[in-house]
Amino acid sequence: MPPCLAQGGLDRPETRRVLGVGPGVVLQRARVGEVEAQGRRYGTRGGRASRNPASLDGERVRNQPQRSPGVSAAGFERPTIETDVAVIGGGAAGLYVALRAAEHGAEATLVSRKPLTESASFWAQGGLAAALAPDDSPARHAQDTLNAGRGLCRSEAVEMLTREAPGAVAELRERGVRFDPDPASPDGALSLALEGGHSARRIVHAGGAQTGRAITGRLAQLVAESERIRVLEETSALALWSDGSECAGVMTDTGPIAARATVLATGGGAALWQRTTNPWGAIGAGAVLAHAAGAALADLEFCQFHPTALALPGSGHDGTLLTEALRGEGAELLDASGRRFTDELAPRDQVAAAILDRMDADGTDHVALDLRSIPPERFPNVFEACRAAGFRPESQPVPVAPAAHYLMGGVVCDLDSATTLPRLYAVGECSCSGAHGANRLASNSLSECFVFGARAAA
Ligand SMILES: Cc1cc2nc3c(=O)[nH]c(=O)nc-3n(C[C@H](O)[C@H](O)[C@H](O)COP(=O)(O)OP(=O)(O)OC[C@H]3O[C@@H](n4cnc5c(N)ncnc54)[C@H](O)[C@@H]3O)c2cc1C
Repeated sequence: MPPCLAQGGLDRPETRRVLGVGPGVVLQRARVGEVEAQGRRYGTRGGRASRNPASLDGERVRNQPQRSPGVSAAGFERPTIETDVAVIGGGAAGLYVALRAAEHGAEATLVSRKPLTESASFWAQGGLAAALAPDDSPARHAQDTLNAGRGLCRSEAVEMLTREAPGAVAELRERGVRFDPDPASPDGALSLALEGGHSARRIVHAGGAQTGRAITGRLAQLVAESERIRVLEETSALALWSDGSECAGVMTDTGPIAARATVLATGGGAALWQRTTNPWGAIGAGAVLAHAAGAALADLEFCQFHPTALALPGSGHDGTLLTEALRGEGAELLDASGRRFTDELAPRDQVAAAILDRMDADGTDHVALDLRSIPPERFPNVFEACRAAGFRPESQPVPVAPAAHYLMGGVVCDLDSATTLPRLYAVGECSCSGAHGANRLASNSLSECFVFGARAAA
């Protein structure tokens, strides 16, 4: 596997320093409990030491977590903001939870360290998965998700995700997100793309491969228009306000926020790897904050490597994602002698492993992705990104290699996004509901943000 950044020398901001949480706070809580789910023990750090599987079943967790050293507003000079719901993160998950909470009548305060354009959500290309085609079904989507997850998914979470994903697409459309229509459909049905591991066309997309930009742009507009949502940009969560028995809000670098409920929506941690598709802020902040406050974490060992990122070591273009939907439309992977060597539409872990094996066998640091059969107008931003990196994808295969892409593990939560720490919720990539098992099925992540975001806000 590509080297972890920690082994390669830290040349990016170090997690705990960026978060302002001292090493003592984070590391002294290394007690490990165990939770069983789907026949497997989930190692949970800092949460409960019990073997009761409650934190991964459908019930809200009421167990007392291990007491954390405690963080409170005492000593902060800034006045405390009081709100019903504090949302940490301004990607798809955070924006959607804030909106839904406001629609339910709550006053929400959303803090985001980085601008919208630097969230993984904004960068999302392929789309979101939902069983919408007449010959498809949530059960079939669920089976594909379980297959990709290598037997380590939590089946209730998979069922919830796949059953509610079509409704999430409908809700986004009602809120004004414009997904690409199928030009061949007389009744305006949506265009559905195919991606690896899916047995049917079910990826809804917008602007070709600019789905994240289209969705988050619209949600951000709605959030800005809402009188019930206060947005604090360029504001970082430093620690959760907690004595270890419950979460009372969040400490930020602009002051404390007291909240009846606090939602972590801080994204993943794949930017900790040397070659990554993620924005640099994706350094596992949610897991660090939750762990320090006493909430349980799980599955941190499962990081997904996307098979096809631009391989240009030393260049700013290294790690640029070339969406899986390209392979769904016929793009081929070629080895050093120009031959196909794998099924391009197998699940991601299989394709990434096949590429790494072939690189080893050929003694190269990349394979090639042949886009010559793909109409550039279907994926304008991808072709533009390749050109910006100095390639002519219409006439020349581009070098690709696997890159760290998505963290399956995170803050343990139940089907309503409640963590093991009362009044603390986790949604989106920072959460671990068990829906992805050991290997997320392509395009299930955005669907997860909306399905579980709606449940958290309800
Ligand atoms: C290039 C790329 C393409 C992708 N394509 C797809 C796709 O087509 N389909 C799909 O389903 N998934 C895709 N994914 C994955 C998907 O985009 C993410 O998993 C998902 O968008 C995560 O959303 P999120 O809201 O949880 O986190 P993010 O969108 O990463 O947002 C995290 C937010 O938290 C903020 N934050 C972080 N730490 C702090 C802190 N300490 N204090 C305050 N704020 C903080 C950040 O500034 C940011 O606003 C893609 C990912 C990448 C990188």
